[in-house]
Amino acid sequence: MSAGSTPSEYGLFIGGASLPASRGERAPVLDPATNRPIATAPVGRADDARHAMEVAESAFRNSGWAEDDGGRRARALYRLARLLEERAESFAVLETTNMGKTIRESKGDIGYVVRTLDYVAGLADKIEGETIPVPGARLDYTLREPLGVTVHIAPWNYPLLLAIRSVAPALAAGNAVVLKPASLTPLTALSFAALAKEAGVPDGIFNVVVGPGGEVGETLVTDPRCRSVSFTGSSEVGQRIAELAARRVIPMTLELGGKSPVVVLPDADLDRAAKGIGFGIFGNAGQMCWAGSRLIVPDALHDELVAKVSKIANGLKLGPGSESTSEMGPVVSADQLDRVVGFVEEARSAGSTVVAGGDRAKEPPLDAGNFVRPTIVTGVSPEQRVVREEVFGPVLSVLRYGQVDEAVRLANDTRYGLFAALWTRDLSQAHTLARQLEAGMVSINEPPTTFPQSPFGGYKESGIGFEQGRRVVESYTRRKNVIVNLGSAKAKK
Ligand code: NAD
Repeated sequence: MSAGSTPSEYGLFIGGASLPASRGERAPVLDPATNRPIATAPVGRADDARHAMEVAESAFRNSGWAEDDGGRRARALYRLARLLEERAESFAVLETTNMGKTIRESKGDIGYVVRTLDYVAGLADKIEGETIPVPGARLDYTLREPLGVTVHIAPWNYPLLLAIRSVAPALAAGNAVVLKPASLTPLTALSFAALAKEAGVPDGIFNVVVGPGGEVGETLVTDPRCRSVSFTGSSEVGQRIAELAARRVIPMTLELGGKSPVVVLPDADLDRAAKGIGFGIFGNAGQMCWAGSRLIVPDALHDELVAKVSKIANGLKLGPGSESTSEMGPVVSADQLDRVVGFVEEARSAGSTVVAGGDRAKEPPLDAGNFVRPTIVTGVSPEQRVVREEVFGPVLSVLRYGQVDEAVRLANDTRYGLFAALWTRDLSQAHTLARQLEAGMVSINEPPTTFPQSPFGGYKESGIGFEQGRRVVESYTRRKNVIVNLGSAKAKK
């Protein structure tokens, strides 16, 4: 099965084959631009999750994937990158149809997955231990071993990109993988698994199970064969995953939510900043973990900057992601639309001012889909829910400050700590403030930007551990120390 042939009935992908769910259940998968079904996906249950774990464990032990020097894994991942590159267009179309983002954004996502595969393939044969000097006639060294079966649970906002961001290094390190994509957006992950088989990843090394998070996700994490969990999603579910992982004493990487501040200093280039702010909150219809959703602006520049960002918001062309002229697509589901609009309504009732957008697009044909107009809310206080909680939609809240230390205090006044942006021409002050901001990632004069080689992770309730970067492959291994007595009788303490 490939994205090119766009099947209308998808199966689970277990042991190198597309299978129906054990109880035969299926659910429609909707296009968020129209809310019409585009395909059906299997609804896996606990039985399917256990089956995938059993198959993965057996492949881990018997396929030779784990034992080799990494060269075979590198070649398979490079081949996978080339296959995806060849089919980038059809994967991008499938991602847009399933998730709603614009086709330009989907092409960017698929390109990012290709670069991730290439980068991680280059690391697969460079997983090295150390020799450690110890007293006496002894050799002490470490081995880096794969963990076994690793579980990966992904969200719906960058369906393929965020799944493969953790799956690729786990494969490079020699693990067998079971991936659970979000139920709303499973299609590209299922198609990608078939591509991995074509690239030479042995059957059973890469499995995909779709189904309700509570049942399938928790069965995977609590299965005795699960040796680590990588979760990307909300902080609430992340906390539940952490409890389950703690009971089993398995390592976890948690990439969770955010409420990221964008601090504009008085000397900033306002036109550049306005563009970056617009990109950082309206990109992907605001459904970004690191969306710059709290704009923190000097009193004196408030009106001027809000006017510039409002002009960008009002100028964005909403439309189905599949149309090349669309600049912002729908949010992923009708529930998500209600949630986003609910936040804005609540802020309005609390006396805040909605200076741009503020509701769903009501004109046909957009009224049939989940389109929210790019929204800016001013006159908010730091205690309001729209300022404290993750809206996960195109909604920017604007806070004002007098002195710079107040801006830093406002920026850090959140349970999250994923990302922060700074806009200033004073680089000395920028580097000083970058240290004061409680966030795992800071950008200076740049909207949210990342690369496969840059570590990606959050502080505080935004997560534990990191994805991407050179060391990521090591986080899917365990370290064993081996000590050898070289001259038994002579070895001293
Ligand atoms: P979510 O937490 O609702 O779901 C994420 C995944 O977890 C889905 O596959 C879901 O089916 C599964 N799940 C749900 N309950 C589960 C349970 N009890 N046990 C195991 N798995 C379970 O998140 P979402 O709505 O899909 O995605 C949006 C959230 O993801 C936002 O909070 C966003 O900030 C966050 N996110 C974080 C990053 C990051 O890198 N830090 C990136 C993207 C999204």
